[in-house]
Amino acid sequence: MTGTKVQARVKDLRVLLERYAYYYYVLATPEVPDAQYDRLFLELQSLEEKHPDLITKDSPTQRVGSAPLAGFSEVRHVVPMLSLANAFGDGEVLEFDRRCRQLLETSRIQYVAEPKLDGLAVSLTYEDGQLVRAATRGDGVRGEDVTQNIRGIRSIPLRLRGNDWPGLLEVRGEVYMPLEGFLRLNHEQRAMDQKLYVNPRNAAAGSLRQLDPRISASRPLEIFCYGIGAIEAGQVPETHIETLKALTIWGLRTNPEAALVDGPEGCLDSYRRILERREALGYDIDGLVYKVNNYSDQQRLGTLSRSPRWALAHKFPAQEELTRVLRIDVQVGRTGAITPVARLEPVFVGGATVSNATLHNRDEIERLDVRVGDTVVIRRAGDVIPEVVSVVSEQRPAKASRYRFPTQCPVCDSEIISDDQGAILRCSGGLFCAAQVKESIKHFASRRAMDIEGLGSKIVDQLVDVGIVKNVADLFDLDTKTLEELDRLGRKSAENLVASIRSSRRTTLPRFLFALGIAQVGEATAQALAAHFESLDSLIVADQEVLEQVIDVGPVVAGSLIHFFAQYHNQEVISRLQGAGITWPQETGKGTGKVPLAGKVVVLTGSMTGMTRDEARKALIQLGAKVTSSVSKNTDMVIAGNEPGGKFAKAKDLGVPVLFESEFQQLIHGGVENG
Ligand code: NAD
Repeated sequence: MTGTKVQARVKDLRVLLERYAYYYYVLATPEVPDAQYDRLFLELQSLEEKHPDLITKDSPTQRVGSAPLAGFSEVRHVVPMLSLANAFGDGEVLEFDRRCRQLLETSRIQYVAEPKLDGLAVSLTYEDGQLVRAATRGDGVRGEDVTQNIRGIRSIPLRLRGNDWPGLLEVRGEVYMPLEGFLRLNHEQRAMDQKLYVNPRNAAAGSLRQLDPRISASRPLEIFCYGIGAIEAGQVPETHIETLKALTIWGLRTNPEAALVDGPEGCLDSYRRILERREALGYDIDGLVYKVNNYSDQQRLGTLSRSPRWALAHKFPAQEELTRVLRIDVQVGRTGAITPVARLEPVFVGGATVSNATLHNRDEIERLDVRVGDTVVIRRAGDVIPEVVSVVSEQRPAKASRYRFPTQCPVCDSEIISDDQGAILRCSGGLFCAAQVKESIKHFASRRAMDIEGLGSKIVDQLVDVGIVKNVADLFDLDTKTLEELDRLGRKSAENLVASIRSSRRTTLPRFLFALGIAQVGEATAQALAAHFESLDSLIVADQEVLEQVIDVGPVVAGSLIHFFAQYHNQEVISRLQGAGITWPQETGKGTGKVPLAGKVVVLTGSMTGMTRDEARKALIQLGAKVTSSVSKNTDMVIAGNEPGGKFAKAKDLGVPVLFESEFQQLIHGGVENG
């Protein structure tokens, strides 16, 4: 790079870093992940190292944090609260140790290795054992007075225990939010339509720096104390590890993972041990801090403008990274649940390359307003599925348009419907959708549904995988020969399976309804529906209002039934099942069922004067008839209204009995017997 180019880059980096630091420290709503900030910071640091003449006093590399927030009174730190030098790999740790040994002229150093908590630094001042002041780090020299808010954190003692503490003791620690509390807080924020916190660190910073201490006190904040600042009228032990023990005795919470270790190998051992347990700690840490144990050694090493020479932060792999959204897809789960997924430009995060991240649900997409082409922050922590946590809106391409959630299943084209107050979306093509076929068959065959003995999960998987079975109706076409060709299925088992499929055809209406696997329709609902409607046909034609008359059926269940039966493909599968000979005894749940047309195939033609076509159809179904649309030799009866068309003529031709409207009305009102 030429001199002017370097100058320009240094300037750009400073502007960017200052902007990011403002959002991070002052507003507690970072725009980019730490990893991105750290990369730019390192770039600036190395340019400044190569061109020391470009270093300015106000460069981010020379400063700590950011100025205090207006609204809090200012506290000046007697001993500055500094930042820490970072290491991203083992080599830098060895180099740190080498430098310390060289400066101290010693061959071996003992360190304390402790988790680097991801929260915000505070200073607690105790005078004569009483908490008199608490402050944030701010820019290291001036912090915010948060005494009132700190008093709301129960694990911080207002009075120290024992009596051997110095008359003035300034304790330093990290206020953080445990993961469980963070999830709970966001859950509550969501319920109250309040803004969600991106991660526990921002939640902790945002919560502690509330102007209303009552809000702060209601937030699940905790502290781990990790050091001391100013001391007067008394002493602390001579080493860091002993001081941590003393702090505990005085009633201050310290991290139980902090350990005295020998040399850089000891540091790296601790790093690996704690990295392995990172997810189990219950709070976020972003690495380890190694500190020279002996205080007189620390003093000899001294501090630089931004950080002490005697400590090093060894960072863990980043759990948040930046990448771009290439596409947004919706996935259909085994039970039809629809999950939107962001397809990403591959990015290395949380120790793995990630190219997909969940967007959870439609509400989440709306909340984030994530769009194709957006630059987003991805989080991958442990085994948790990677997720999109935020959108870097100022990097949005000009033509990115709002994402429109599909209304049809991408796999089977059935309508997408919502249940559970709209939070969960489902594909309504349960019987037909290829994404759901295995689950729907397993459910269909299960003991409390159609009870097909011998049709285990492995056989279902094979049948679907080789393409023999595409939906439940195909089961009834299976023969012994086909089944025998499957892995691990002998002739005898194949024969038995065919026999049990056959015998399952004699079932009951509640079992059959339950077997269809309609969302929200469990066994009890299936029973209530069967008892109420007594026939499948009358259930199929029932509208929302009619359905809601059934005990236990509310708007959600009714909606689910309507959408299920409205899908052409579901209807097709049901007719094929009936065609395969599935039968059940007539339900007599209400005990009033008069079914003079039971099993009769009836065709309607012409218009009625006293009722609509739909009412006539429903009335016929109530009488037990099966209403079809065209006349054939299988038709048992034609109902003719005014101006009957070709169907009437065809009935005459085929000798099918015809009933006119007046006779039909009599039949409805119980006058004409089934002939
Ligand atoms: P730091 O992470 O470099 O280290 C210093 C801080 O570590 C201390 O002030 C203290 O709060 C904390 N700490 C936690 N555990 C500790 C322990 N056991 N002993 C001592 N200190 C402990 O902090 P920094 O100076 O605030 O800033 C740098 C960090 O902030 C980086 O990780 C950077 O990525 C992040 N940052 C991010 C953005 C962003 O936009 N995402 C902006 C600015 C800074």
